Amino acid sequence: MPGSVKDVIKRVRPAVGTAIEAGRATVETAIEHGKATVEDALHHGRATVESALHHGRATVETAIQQGRATMQAAILHGREDIRIESVPVPKAGVGEIIVRVGAALTCGTDLKVFRRGYHARMIVPPALFGHELAGTVVEAGEGVADFAPGQRVVALNSAPCGNCYFCQHNQENLCDDLLFNNGAYAEFIRIPARIVAKNTLHVPDHVPLEHAALTEPLACAVHGFEDSKPWPGATVAIIGGGPLGLMMLHVGALAGCETIAVVKHDGQVEAARQLGATHVVQTSSIRKAIHDVRALTPKDRGVDIAVEAVGVPDAWEEAVEMVRKGGTVNFFGGCAVGTRVTLDTNRIHYSDITLRATFHHTPAICRKALDLIAGGRFQAGAFITGHAHLYELNRVFEKLMNRSSEIKTAIVP
Ligand SMILES: [Zn+2]
Ligand SMILES: [Zn+2]
Repeated sequence: MPGSVKDVIKRVRPAVGTAIEAGRATVETAIEHGKATVEDALHHGRATVESALHHGRATVETAIQQGRATMQAAILHGREDIRIESVPVPKAGVGEIIVRVGAALTCGTDLKVFRRGYHARMIVPPALFGHELAGTVVEAGEGVADFAPGQRVVALNSAPCGNCYFCQHNQENLCDDLLFNNGAYAEFIRIPARIVAKNTLHVPDHVPLEHAALTEPLACAVHGFEDSKPWPGATVAIIGGGPLGLMMLHVGALAGCETIAVVKHDGQVEAARQLGATHVVQTSSIRKAIHDVRALTPKDRGVDIAVEAVGVPDAWEEAVEMVRKGGTVNFFGGCAVGTRVTLDTNRIHYSDITLRATFHHTPAICRKALDLIAGGRFQAGAFITGHAHLYELNRVFEKLMNRSSEIKTAIVP
């Protein structure tokens, strides 16, 4: 956020230069069109850009956006092939908004997509990339009533249709026509009308944008946790120390559950402890994990709830072996297409085990997730272990592939 007019001029000058060179709409054009610009603000005695912001005027970011033809954005071209390219700055259509990205977070799903080169449901290359973001509105299209330039928002990565069978049966996460949006690793992002209407939320003033950007993954974690039907004091084992496993663990700890984190790496042990794990089991042996988790429960009976948050078949099978009679297993981690698992049907039937597999989130859960972040008990900062510029994105993903102790990196374009 710019501090003074001086800063603003420093920031806008190069942008104006670029715009002129590109022969596109310039800041002068913006003036002609009646938008307040930095110079305007200066001459009319506005003290700071902040004040312009609060008075609901077009902001400097808006001037920058309108004075520029192109922006830098990450384009996914295929397997492990991200390129930072100059692409047109998006313009808001009917019902859409344009957001200046304040922070975009790396995510396990993005890492999977980076490795595989595509995601059947979410992204087909070449395409803009990244889906966890928060930022400042710089343009609101015709018909947008709830958002105006200058406002801080978190825009979710998807929105349900509201009309299909699943939407009408309170299962919007399973919507037949879930609309996905990508392009968070960029200076600006267009938010489609449906996401503006259903899944874009105002960020309270005291919440940093990079924390607000956690809303999407946290919504998945809250959804998965609630779907497992927990209660305060329940013993919950979470297999997996990735970002979502750790989030689920933290949500469970905040809800008063006795949590057991099952992790592999040293960095994950520390993170699990910090996020409130009652016990941490560190092992890469499945047999040992099952044994150690059971040993933490009375008479080795097993946990009330076991959550699989890795997304590999061995861990799915492991989760079923950890749970007690009458307990619940949540297969929360999605495996690769075509994966099959082998389960002991006798154990599932005669031990009356409930199997669940929670996917994605709903608009109501997204609101809950942002409330949790804003509430102060949730340690949002613990999940963001690094910061990098857009130009460093390739390096960041390569590092994530090597299983570093990073949880999420905030990409600041
Ligand atoms: Zn994500
Ligand atoms: Zn639907």
